[in-house]
Amino acid sequence: MEITFLGTGVAIPQRGRVQSGVLVRLEEKPLLIDCGSGVLSRFPEAEISHTEVDTVLLSHLHLDHVADLLCLLKANWLRGKTDMRIYGPEGTEDWLSRVLGAYEYIMDEVDVDVIDLFPGKEFTPEGLDCEITCTAAIHSVPTLAYRVTAADGEFVYSGDTEPCREIMDLATESDLLIHECSYPPGTKVTNHTTPSTLAEILEEYKKEIGSICLTHFYPEMRGHEREAIYRLKGYFEGEVILAEDLMKLEL
Ligand SMILES: [Zn+2]
Ligand SMILES: [Zn+2]
Repeated sequence: MEITFLGTGVAIPQRGRVQSGVLVRLEEKPLLIDCGSGVLSRFPEAEISHTEVDTVLLSHLHLDHVADLLCLLKANWLRGKTDMRIYGPEGTEDWLSRVLGAYEYIMDEVDVDVIDLFPGKEFTPEGLDCEITCTAAIHSVPTLAYRVTAADGEFVYSGDTEPCREIMDLATESDLLIHECSYPPGTKVTNHTTPSTLAEILEEYKKEIGSICLTHFYPEMRGHEREAIYRLKGYFEGEVILAEDLMKLEL
């Protein structure tokens, strides 16, 4: 399984980081997790065709995680690929029918299945060789963290969240935890994570999770990268990685 970070940024524009998106290459077809603004333009840069994607998993419906989804649907349709399955938290189906409703000429041409998920749901996306389970994250809107299990490895993607036990439990005995880390150490913030708040909960799980990759960085994180790694290394035995756009990890 190969994981490509298409976007590691947030709602504020910054050089080198577009909004959230992770592409997971499985044996047959890829899985796209989140599709924020700028993610579509990363496909040619990652040398991946966007028409390969017909399954998208959304952590939540904030714009920095979904803004390019309609653009992806349109780009695929213009290249003759019209089927798509979209999985997301409660409200995803209603949201997509409303935004797609504003573009009838696209809606009439594409064949989109939308599946609302709930914490605890376990499923295998149609046509993909992996299993997915989810749990609730702590964010300002319904948000799901996902565990993706394939033959060659498993990882957890936190979505936007405060650090919480539910996600750590989901990540227990996985190879990799991709966790959001919006702000630098010491920032007082709710609904998001800093290296300090992640470190507090991580100590209990320091032998339970293979490695950690931080992503979803606000511009304020720039210059605090070494500090973030140092802070977490004190509480965690595995590797700590900071994601970059177009970085690839192999499981
Ligand atoms: Zn976000
Ligand atoms: Zn969010």
